[in-house]
Amino acid sequence: MSQLPSQLPSGLLEKPRTIRALRAAIADGSASASGIAERYYARIEQYNPQVNAYLALTREQAMEQAAQVDARAAKGDPLPPLAGVPIGVKDVLTMRGAPTTAGSRILEGYRPPYDATAVTRLREAGAVLLGKLNCDEFAMGSSNENSAYGPVRNPVDLERVPGGSSGGSAAAVAANLAVATLGTDTGGSIRQPASYCGVVGVLPTYGRVSRYGLIAFASSLDRVGPFAASVEDAARVMEVLAGHDPLDATSATRPVDDYAAATTREVKGLRIGIPEEYFGEGLDLEVRAAVERGIDALHAQGCQTKRISLRHTRYAIPVYYLVATAEASANLARFDGVRFGYRSAAATNLSSMYRLSREEGFGAEVKRRILLGTYALSAGYYDAYYRKALQVRRILAEEFLAAFAELDAIVAPTAPTAAFRIGEKSDDPLAMYLADIYTVTASLAGICGLSVPCGTTAAGLPVGLQVLGPHFGESTIFRVAAGVERATAEARA
Ligand code: GLN
Repeated sequence: MSQLPSQLPSGLLEKPRTIRALRAAIADGSASASGIAERYYARIEQYNPQVNAYLALTREQAMEQAAQVDARAAKGDPLPPLAGVPIGVKDVLTMRGAPTTAGSRILEGYRPPYDATAVTRLREAGAVLLGKLNCDEFAMGSSNENSAYGPVRNPVDLERVPGGSSGGSAAAVAANLAVATLGTDTGGSIRQPASYCGVVGVLPTYGRVSRYGLIAFASSLDRVGPFAASVEDAARVMEVLAGHDPLDATSATRPVDDYAAATTREVKGLRIGIPEEYFGEGLDLEVRAAVERGIDALHAQGCQTKRISLRHTRYAIPVYYLVATAEASANLARFDGVRFGYRSAAATNLSSMYRLSREEGFGAEVKRRILLGTYALSAGYYDAYYRKALQVRRILAEEFLAAFAELDAIVAPTAPTAAFRIGEKSDDPLAMYLADIYTVTASLAGICGLSVPCGTTAAGLPVGLQVLGPHFGESTIFRVAAGVERATAEARA
């Protein structure tokens, strides 16, 4: 690993203590939630100027919450599941009173009057919410270069992207600027940055985690999920996030499983599919080798591995970029200079206010998507593009369902390459879209997935292995991921 850039500030890549250890230390009085929070704010002060993960800090609220946890601990009261755990929140989720920009200028100055349900659940579980995390504008992107507030840098190599759109969320965990974070994934935005930064990132089944308070990009695809440094920690945060919410009409009523317990179960006997379409042209050889080592490790632990074909996979990128942009064009119509955030100072009448506020407030990628989506939905093109995309989406979902009739999980690379350099793809939107090739299909199908580190390239860049499971198959994917983690941790030791 000697090839990592020498300019990395010392102490940047620290691994957080586990949630279990933090809770135990607070309970037995050897640490306090307030002291832990202070330490995290000190790290943020030290490293955030280089990483640019946090856009806003919510210190006052956080210290109040930490004090409450400490008061409970002092009385010997039972502690909630995430008591005193420092957590950061992607800036597309609302947090009462905190600036919420979605990485866009058009929301500059907006402070929502309410919490997203995911945020409420974290608070109720005792988490200490440190602040809001940088991301691609409206979660559109794969590199975090589309943020109006500057790119996030990958803590493993500051010249490289952390992935996107939840780049700040992944980088914050990798640099231990939070123990866990919230991200969102519409076409890969949790799994891909997790892969690039060497952390665990989870895409919950559609409907498993409430979207209430999430600034919508593509409502039929958007999911909220956790990042953490270990599979067990990710599972613990998922247990808190998951569950029915009457405020989200698509939220599932199904009871939540014990995900943390699943991470302790051996993987022996699980049937794992390896789709050939995820190992074809365009897959970097070092990424391939690391993923194959992960698969070998599962095999060695007694999984039955089987090569399979998901033959419609190649249609996923065009289908995704039609469905997602169509929904985005409708969702983003609300940003008009009237109700939230930015309004052009040059506006002279109603129509110039709409036009100029949107012209000045949105970045290039967001505009590109609004145009594309509006076109795909327009009369005369609707059937050829949008309706056709929905039909193919259904075929892609059915293909997964058929595969899961005989399999417990599917494993594949999360992304075709490791983290690329800042600026490398920013002039080529199509190349950027193609980097989503392994993640968008699961998004379209509504199934669950995650990315778990499975090794590094010769240059020391992290590689993620993707585990996909059927709808509500979270326990199984956590179990498989823990198997990969055990093997790669042993290999590292
Ligand atoms: N990179 C994909 C896109 O740009 C996915 C983004 C996401 O999941 N939010 O749309």
